[in-house]
Amino acid sequence: MADCLFCRIVAGEIPATLIHEDDGVVAFADIRPQAPLHVLIVPRRHVATLNDLTEADDALVGRMLRTAAAIAQAHGYADRGYRTVFNCNGDAGQTVFHLHLHLLAGRGLGWPPG
Ligand code: 5GP
Ligand code: ZN
Repeated sequence: MADCLFCRIVAGEIPATLIHEDDGVVAFADIRPQAPLHVLIVPRRHVATLNDLTEADDALVGRMLRTAAAIAQAHGYADRGYRTVFNCNGDAGQTVFHLHLHLLAGRGLGWPPG
């Protein structure tokens, strides 16, 4: 999608600090980090929200989550702890409508979230 911010990052048209990429997902640093480690893991293919996934995407979602875990581990947060979040639509505060998994680590994270 030409007008999608994260499609453009995936395509290399907008710069981002890449953390990981493979044939299914791309991970890059959030531009406004909310924790010492704040990474977004996105599918290469445009999917707008969690609501738009189908059974055919189960492996893709697994890849996203395992990528988050691998990045957390690589940065030394596997044992200390970290959070993964999908925001979906307005009440959850989704602002970019290309599916993304937030990975947050490096500070105590309050619960329940705001
Ligand atoms: P949402 O609120 O949709 O769950 O999260 C969108 C995230 O994208 C926010 O944390 C925001 O800081 C991040 N973001 C917005 N624009 C850009 C950008 O141009 N580059 C990067 N790397 N992150 C962005
Ligand atoms: Zn997109």
